[in-house]
Amino acid sequence: MKEIERVLPPHKHVALVAHDHKKEQLLAWVSSRCEELKLHHLYATGTTGTMLSRKVGLPVRCLMSGPMGGDQQLGAMIAEGKIDVLIFFWDPLNAVPHDPDVKALLRLATVWNIPVATNVSTADMLMDSAQMTRSFGIKIPDYEGYIQERTK
Ligand code: PGA
Repeated sequence: MKEIERVLPPHKHVALVAHDHKKEQLLAWVSSRCEELKLHHLYATGTTGTMLSRKVGLPVRCLMSGPMGGDQQLGAMIAEGKIDVLIFFWDPLNAVPHDPDVKALLRLATVWNIPVATNVSTADMLMDSAQMTRSFGIKIPDYEGYIQERTK
């Protein structure tokens, strides 16, 4: 498929997700990056987001809980170009019931080429990047062109 450019804005739409054994780690990371994260629009799956807004006091738009559909909601938002960055501390040591949804979320983040961090060091590098607070062009699939081509 051909590609086109999408420009991520300076104030990014950042999705935050953590599996249960990773929630404390995400809370600690968000607390350490609180001031920088305030520059962006924050989204999260239900439990993660509720914990973040209660314990760190950040305004977060909460979707449904991950296993109940929240991962799929985020995946759809990524496909629609409504999420710019995904911080997803998934658990590599414990099975989760919604593994297909987890895979689908990571897959769509890759398809739509958004920056993704799945651990603290990558999340730190992302936040320290100058592109985090500037416009940043990414290549995405030329979906409109693809549909036009296929329906000629
Ligand atoms: P939760 O979902 O924030 O509702 O726990 C996270 C997930 O498992 O995707």
